[in-house]
Amino acid sequence: MALKELILKYAPVAVQDAGISLYNTHLYRQRHRGQYKAWQRYYQKFEQADAEEISREAARRQALFLRWATEKSPWYAAHRNKALHEFPILEKEQLLANMDRIRTLDESQGIVSLTGGTTGASMKVIYHPEDMQERFALKDHFRARYGYRLGRKVAWFSGKSLVRPADLESGRVWRDDHINKIRFFSTFHIGPRHFDAYWRALQDFQPDYIVGFPSSVLDLCALAQERGLNYQGRVDTFFPTAETVLPMHREQIPAMLGCRVVDQYAASEGAPFILQCPEGSLHIHPLTGIFEVVDENMRPAREGEILVTPFTTRGTPLIRYRIGDRISLAPDDYRCPCGSCFPVVRHIDGRSADFVWSPENGKVNLGNISNCTKDAEGIICFQIVQEEPDAVDVSVVANERFTPEQRGRFLHAMTQRLGQGVRIRLDQVESIPREPSGKFRIVKNRLAQDAMRPLPQEG
Ligand SMILES: [Zn+2]
Repeated sequence: MALKELILKYAPVAVQDAGISLYNTHLYRQRHRGQYKAWQRYYQKFEQADAEEISREAARRQALFLRWATEKSPWYAAHRNKALHEFPILEKEQLLANMDRIRTLDESQGIVSLTGGTTGASMKVIYHPEDMQERFALKDHFRARYGYRLGRKVAWFSGKSLVRPADLESGRVWRDDHINKIRFFSTFHIGPRHFDAYWRALQDFQPDYIVGFPSSVLDLCALAQERGLNYQGRVDTFFPTAETVLPMHREQIPAMLGCRVVDQYAASEGAPFILQCPEGSLHIHPLTGIFEVVDENMRPAREGEILVTPFTTRGTPLIRYRIGDRISLAPDDYRCPCGSCFPVVRHIDGRSADFVWSPENGKVNLGNISNCTKDAEGIICFQIVQEEPDAVDVSVVANERFTPEQRGRFLHAMTQRLGQGVRIRLDQVESIPREPSGKFRIVKNRLAQDAMRPLPQEG
């Protein structure tokens, strides 16, 4: 057993807290060494630049990145001097199977990042240390616009399983980094049984910021609301990570905690950044990479799947990588009131695999599905699983306000979206398990591709 696991399993809580503090401080130093400061100045400078300067710099970065990839990565060697659109699309399976030919560094030369793959296979991506410093410089620069810096109190809700059974009994559902003032909450145990412990710990800590899974923070807020509780204090900003932010997150979390919700998009295998500005728009950052939005036939579109070419993936170059997420773009002539010339994304639709298939209506996306709870009271969370083209299983966690009438409204809303031809089996449950990564999936589509055939058109 590794030392880290031994400590997590057997050491007293105080020792664990100290270990976590030291480990974080080590990570912080690793990410903030070297070129970090220079990159912060770089992003500061280009925030005020005009459109022409930006596009010149974006073109320069793109050329540098493609040259690096074709010179250093055996996988891309055959594509020297090609324009971006001439490169082949890189599928996730190809990345997994050919990692050793794609990467340009050994594990010992870079920083290894593990991603929970969607199919269960985990992906190991190697970052060039300087690229990691650039990514953190931008992330910190972005959060600093909202007053965030290391040392302000932060509550963290992400996929770490850091709590033992004995801790659950005693209500110690978190670990503290006392040096950096971060409280890490376990996201695996938020539910009616341990709610009091979570709520007390959050209330006592009085964080300025919250970072983490929106589904976890929402669960906590929904349980508090159900119990008629008010949060004593005020959280400044919530920075969601890893999951798609839905209207229900943007409504219910600020209503309970008094915070702003400020979204970002940056996948851990390395994607370019999309960052929310103070006016609430989501801006693509053109100096972090290229987003191509494509339709089902891989042709340019305003709304659809994205192919990403992130400039900070020199360790494992990703070119036109089909990352599996969808976005929709705002009109080209849209000017955000914040004054930035960076392109605006209307919304981030999340994983392209997160939809329910309807023989009548085609793909019904996650945002649309999550809106089913709008007219029904008492639902705390739900999950919809599809294994057959004409039926879905819906699990609902709800309180006593979820009466037969509300249940009827919820089913009606669901039928409107999925069509009359889809049978809905609704099951009220105590709790719904999260994924091994700690994330919560509202939609689980297990249909085979060939099961998704539209109904023949009449007449
Ligand atoms: Zn803006």
